[in-house]
Amino acid sequence: MAEPPPLDDRLFAAVDRLATVVRSARQRLATRHGTSPLQLQIVEHLAGGRRARVGDLAAEFAVASPTISDAVSTLVDKGFVERRTDPADKRAVVLGLTPAGEELAAAVTAEFGPVRRATAGIAGAERATALHVLLRGIAHLVDAGIIRVDRSCLTCAHHEPGAGLRPGHCLLLDRPLPPADLRVDCPDHLSRTTPVP
Ligand code: SF4
Repeated sequence: MAEPPPLDDRLFAAVDRLATVVRSARQRLATRHGTSPLQLQIVEHLAGGRRARVGDLAAEFAVASPTISDAVSTLVDKGFVERRTDPADKRAVVLGLTPAGEELAAAVTAEFGPVRRATAGIAGAERATALHVLLRGIAHLVDAGIIRVDRSCLTCAHHEPGAGLRPGHCLLLDRPLPPADLRVDCPDHLSRTTPVP
């Protein structure tokens, strides 16, 4: 039997397979709700009362601001998104979900349920290790300038790396951060300037 491809290639293929499943589920749901996949991603991003400006969304999804503006205008017309004055800057506009938008976001979460639960039967320690490995990979891509927006612990200035058996630590929240507690999208994230070891 032929040797399998190198480990890096198989890891990439596994991540790519999962990404395909998510992309296809998002496309199905977008079609069902009369939106585009990008519009649906904006709804997902704003779920739970989150606010964002057009520029934030453009950086988040790595697309041009006019493309985001068009998508937002359509979502406003459909009643999923509303524009509000930014309380921090009265001249600026922030975007947030309407109740219908929050309902749509909840429907998306339910649609992704089978994918989210794909690893549910695997021991917690193994899942935590997988999360740690993926976040380390993301951190290296951030350092290489390939990922430009990230809010995970391993790229955060508040993260103190662990050593030996001692887990990492969040200096802001003053709490240990073992692999199982690492965050992927933390509102308190502060980009660090030194590369991940
Ligand atoms: S502030 Fe958030 S992202 Fe940063 S280390 Fe603490 S928990 Fe992680």
